[in-house]
Amino acid sequence: MKSLPMKQLVTADVSPRIRRLAPTQSAPTDVGDHRLLATFCAVVFLAFPLPMRAAVPEDARELVKARVAEDYPTLFALYQHLHANPELSLHEEKTAARIAEELRRTGGEVTEKVGGHGVVGVLRNGAGPTLLLRTDLDALPVTEKTGLPYASRARATDDWGNEVDVMHACGHDAHMTVLVGTARVLSQVKDHWRGTVVLIGQPAEEVGAGAKAMLADGLFTRFPKPDWCFAWHVKPEVPAGTVAFTEGATFANVDSVDIAVYGVGGHGSAPQTTRDPVVLAAQIVLALQTIVSRELTPGEPAVLTVGSIHGGTKHNIIPDEVRLQLTLRSYSAETRDRMITAIRRITRGLGLAAGLPEDRLPLVAMGGAGLPAAYNDPNLTRRLTTVFKDWLGESQVREAKPTMGGEDFGLYGQTADHIPITLFWLGISDPAAVTESEKSGQPLPSAHSSLFAPVPEPTIKTGVTAMTAAVLELLRPQ
Ligand SMILES: [Zn+2]
Ligand SMILES: [Zn+2]
Repeated sequence: MKSLPMKQLVTADVSPRIRRLAPTQSAPTDVGDHRLLATFCAVVFLAFPLPMRAAVPEDARELVKARVAEDYPTLFALYQHLHANPELSLHEEKTAARIAEELRRTGGEVTEKVGGHGVVGVLRNGAGPTLLLRTDLDALPVTEKTGLPYASRARATDDWGNEVDVMHACGHDAHMTVLVGTARVLSQVKDHWRGTVVLIGQPAEEVGAGAKAMLADGLFTRFPKPDWCFAWHVKPEVPAGTVAFTEGATFANVDSVDIAVYGVGGHGSAPQTTRDPVVLAAQIVLALQTIVSRELTPGEPAVLTVGSIHGGTKHNIIPDEVRLQLTLRSYSAETRDRMITAIRRITRGLGLAAGLPEDRLPLVAMGGAGLPAAYNDPNLTRRLTTVFKDWLGESQVREAKPTMGGEDFGLYGQTADHIPITLFWLGISDPAAVTESEKSGQPLPSAHSSLFAPVPEPTIKTGVTAMTAAVLELLRPQ
């Protein structure tokens, strides 16, 4: 809801008042009487104005922007600290402790170790609805090559025992900084919102485990249950200072599939004594490409990628087995199911064609739990888009296409409570670089790249301002 200057408020509110009053007054007989009545009502209205409509007043907006500007140096320091000290998924111990400490300082009731390293901060401010704001906490096994003065030099041992470099290459450090900045501002503008804000630091987003773990650990039962959930994700294609929205399906269903292709091994010089699983695997890889191109309805978004193929040990040995690993992406459950059914049919059919006996046919197994598609509630998304245009400027809010990436934020909207959720995109790139990239067709370094380097200002300021605007809109004092 836009805030209206007083002049417009008077105009907007007088007419209905006149209409309401008119039947109880002596019936006006001509235009002159109408004018008289209108003037009388306007005078009465100006002398005894109706209560202000609960729009965000101009001074709240200015107050928020001033607080964000004042706080920026400490937020930038926090961002640099988080960026230089990344931790891998499921190992976000120090990061979580820092976020908990920051939220505690804003006056929130903070609970740690919710679903692993999850943090829940609750800011209460009287009766009203509840809004959940989410940041993720984890970083990636990527070697940073940005050359930034605060670049990460962190190393860690991953869950398979490998020594790896660690980097916030997906911008979760920016999400955390913005969440903390928002909590700080909210604690300073309590006259302008009523209700409860639940701020969560979610671990293990990159492995699709954190949202599930926090929900399983009572996120919606031990803490105030939200009426809405909101999150950011940074996006290199969007200029810093700008935000972007996607309505409806925003992130894809993510499914991992493992295929074991069996054969009958033997000497590389005597293929007639074998059933070669390398050749069969190659046929399967190619045949799988026809699922999206030949079996799905044109225009239905879907991806099938064979990301890994392993088999054999030596030039002259035909192995007994080849293993394939696939990732599937889709938006609808029907598309997902059709792809999986087709994978089973094609692998079995090619196995039979290769002359394999029933007990040596390829085995198809779904890997892990997968991730359901994230769906941005259209009403909530539209409502916040209007607010962000109002606060940031019409040109600073744009539409973005859905992605085939995965995000476990979608799970917060898929419990039995069907809570409306929305994830907006936060622009992070130098606007000139975005224009240049659009012109040349050369993509900017993507998330998960070793060159991924968000521009901190105005990214952080924009994120805090808009996230605060979302709270002031949804939790407007009545
Ligand atoms: Zn990521
Ligand atoms: Zn991410």
